Amino acid sequence: MTDRNQQLFDRAARVIPGGVNSPVRAFRAVGGTPRFVQRAQGAYFWDANGKQYIDYIGSWGPMILGHGNPVVLEAVQKAALDGFSFGAPTEREIELAEAILAQVPSMEMVRLVSSGTEAGMSALRLARGATGRSKIIKFEGCYHGHADALLVKAGSGLATFGNPTSAGVPPEVVQHTLVLEYNNIPQLEEAFALHGKELACLMIEPIAGNMNFVRASVPFMTRCRELCTQYGALLVFDEVMTGFRVALGSAQSVYAKSIPGFKPDITVLGKVIGGGMPLAAFGGPRAIMEQLAPTGPVYQAGTLSGNPVATACGLATLKEISKPGFWDALSARTRSLVDGLSAAAAQAGVPFSADCEGGMFGFFLLPELPQNYAKVMTSDSPRFNKLFHGLLDRGVYIAPALYEAGFVSAAHSAADIAATVDAAAAVFKQL
Ligand SMILES: *Cc1c(COP(=O)(O)O)cnc(C)c1O
Repeated sequence: MTDRNQQLFDRAARVIPGGVNSPVRAFRAVGGTPRFVQRAQGAYFWDANGKQYIDYIGSWGPMILGHGNPVVLEAVQKAALDGFSFGAPTEREIELAEAILAQVPSMEMVRLVSSGTEAGMSALRLARGATGRSKIIKFEGCYHGHADALLVKAGSGLATFGNPTSAGVPPEVVQHTLVLEYNNIPQLEEAFALHGKELACLMIEPIAGNMNFVRASVPFMTRCRELCTQYGALLVFDEVMTGFRVALGSAQSVYAKSIPGFKPDITVLGKVIGGGMPLAAFGGPRAIMEQLAPTGPVYQAGTLSGNPVATACGLATLKEISKPGFWDALSARTRSLVDGLSAAAAQAGVPFSADCEGGMFGFFLLPELPQNYAKVMTSDSPRFNKLFHGLLDRGVYIAPALYEAGFVSAAHSAADIAATVDAAAAVFKQL
């Protein structure tokens, strides 16, 4: 049989660098041929050979209702008939802004953009503009999009400034970015003691989905909030992945349960709020947000920002996930997957740890959940690659890299979860 995926990959590689438009899609970490998607429906997609997969990526998070949800589809079709883009304001932008603010009370105003990268980059400029300071803190293993100042890894010493992780980023551009270890309170305190008064912001993924699934501990998050307040730096929550994915109120509502009165200063959103269309946002208190052009001196703009089709898709998605019972059902389904996988691994004697929140999960081939990036990277990567390909052969599609989270949608049935656990049990026995 001819492998259409391979044919397409070969053809793609002639005209698109690496054959893909975003690197992780290329299967470099796990080897093999990327699956080219023909179509998707509900919890499934079909590749170019017509093979069906249970999809645990869901476009890396946005497809929280599954693919082709009829309510969302109708909203998108209706919006498309009225025009694709105007470059002038629309009522639907207000509706989406209101729908977001209604669920995330730390935000009084929000600006819509087209990608998480754009939202994170703009939030950073806003934090610097609003504070009049240049330095920022980020954490090793957190991803905030590919803006120059955020493509940084830790330098050699404690609380030193970082080195670019990409060619094309001049060292001068990251000289203000301090990279710290996630969940390390003493290091955080030292960094604030040294640089606190020059810090514009601390940017963090509250549940880090770009190192699979690592929670900021409650004591660590408490210190992040306290130190930012004490030194006048802004706490920027990058909830591009966790926003409207781990809870209706996003990850900040999860922390507010353990830390009374907790809220970040600026929130960055993406993925779910666009429901699969290019849409992202950033927001915060009125006094900070009014620093943006046209009311303030911080410039930010976008030809396609607040796009009418994207806002229709996002709005319909947010309406569906706000219905009573939605989050209990999604959380229970995700929990059943994590429990099933854990039990199957235990039975096969495979070291395994897993965690989840709402419709987001992560697992590690490690006996205990890691707390930072260095620990995540001690995961057994050849073993993960065997697991990945074993699942793929059996029609289960998880992220093709061990440092990426997984996503369950409302379209995943109990039977889908059971089939996934059965497939994993068979693969675990061969590890
Ligand atoms: C996906 C992601 C981004 C980048 O969003 P894009 O839309 O891919 O530019 C930023 N931050 C986090 C936490 C993400 O998961």
